Amino acid sequence: MRILFVTSEIHPLIKTGGLADVSGSLPAALKALGADVRILVPGYPGVLRRLGNAEEIARLPEGRLLYSTMPDSGVPVMAIDHPPFFWREGNPYLDDRGSDWWDNPARFGLLSRTAAHLASSDSPIDWNPDIVHCNDWQSGLAPAFMKFRGSAAKTVMTIHNIAFQGNFSPEWVEKVGLPAESYTMHGAEFHGHFSFLKAGLFYSDAITTVSPSYAREIQTSAMGCGMEGLLFSRSRDVRGILNGIDLEEWNPAADRHLPAHYDASSLDAKLEVKRELQRSMGLDQEDHAPLFGVVSRLTYQKGLDLVAECAQGLFDQGAQLVVLGSGDHEFERIFLQLSESHPGRCSARIGFDEGLSHRIMAGADIFLMPSRFEPCGLNQMYGMHYGTPPVVRTTGGLADSVSDGATGFSFGAANSHELYLAANRALSAYRQGDSFRKIQRNGMESDFGWGKSAREYLDLYESLTGR
Ligand code: ADP
Repeated sequence: MRILFVTSEIHPLIKTGGLADVSGSLPAALKALGADVRILVPGYPGVLRRLGNAEEIARLPEGRLLYSTMPDSGVPVMAIDHPPFFWREGNPYLDDRGSDWWDNPARFGLLSRTAAHLASSDSPIDWNPDIVHCNDWQSGLAPAFMKFRGSAAKTVMTIHNIAFQGNFSPEWVEKVGLPAESYTMHGAEFHGHFSFLKAGLFYSDAITTVSPSYAREIQTSAMGCGMEGLLFSRSRDVRGILNGIDLEEWNPAADRHLPAHYDASSLDAKLEVKRELQRSMGLDQEDHAPLFGVVSRLTYQKGLDLVAECAQGLFDQGAQLVVLGSGDHEFERIFLQLSESHPGRCSARIGFDEGLSHRIMAGADIFLMPSRFEPCGLNQMYGMHYGTPPVVRTTGGLADSVSDGATGFSFGAANSHELYLAANRALSAYRQGDSFRKIQRNGMESDFGWGKSAREYLDLYESLTGR
């Protein structure tokens, strides 16, 4: 089974969120199951630097195709080296001011077109995929190009977050090289826009998303972001497969970012990480102060306004809060202000910091993730795996991965009162000691690895190709 896995970000080469983690770990899990998988990714500067020894394997109509292998997993990776589109430092989607790059449709049109080219009979390389697995809107045009070119390979479109749709002005349809006839309601048109995601959902052979609950939710008007009708009409082709986590990258017993290591049988050593976290973040050095942690994109989706609203109530009970994130300036300001007004109790770091995210996951006592919606979410799984039980809202992958009272704490309505009540249940358990230890161990002993889910993807590929 040959699988071309198309993605706009991949850990450890380039990362803005969970898509990168999945792109780094799912192909590795597929390879471990015997699949012949290759990754296709844009050649951003960070990607080409980290791949170092990439070799040119083909000239493309635009740019070159470079070949290398992923640093840890050894999965083959192909990067599109086209400097006018991809040689830009920083965030892959945004310019320095935080606005979308004006030519994103051209940039990710090229990613999609190249995937289709590699799956066609005039591919410049002698490796033809049976499956082209697309991820989010950035590769959403690949199934459309493949349908119009008559490609034999089958396509899977995975939705990691349906709120990101890649909707652009219709003038881009022909600029990216799609025939005008693709721009209809039964195609890439979406409320007067040219939609990369809609194209992917319409033209792909199968649709997956990253948890069973989210697969149901996005078929409703409340959570489908306008795509619910199409998804509902293709219900039989829609599957929810829960993401796994990379157990080598995320392992409290060997994590290179931690000052001390522990497992379920040596949880006392977790305290050393907490002490170091408190010290480095300027929090009061109090072993017994319950420490809440947040690592997140700072956006409305993640419900962090609810955290800000109930923070005072938590501080009043002697708790501390550490926040790492970046995103909307308003949220950044709120958390910076909170840490200024509560020195020693609250500390916020604005930015992207891989090492600190691991230290918060390990050093905090309780992880907060009150998302308004959450396709899968990885941080709650990292939290459980690190003995840091999460407080989550019952939605999407949070509902599918956290068991209330057994591995974490859940609440329903998206308001700060409900979050506060759930956080208080976590605090009572923490104070009781034994019951908290049990919840920590339950999480640490749960299996969040890729094994089962990678098998489900393989089953899907097999059902599409008839192999
Ligand atoms: P999403 O993909 O919606 O952002 P997920 O929970 O699925 O949310 O994945 C987020 C990933 O990004 C996790 O690996 C998390 O640790 C990481 N992350 C988010 N914000 C930061 C940050 N500011 N610094 C470091 N890592 C971050």
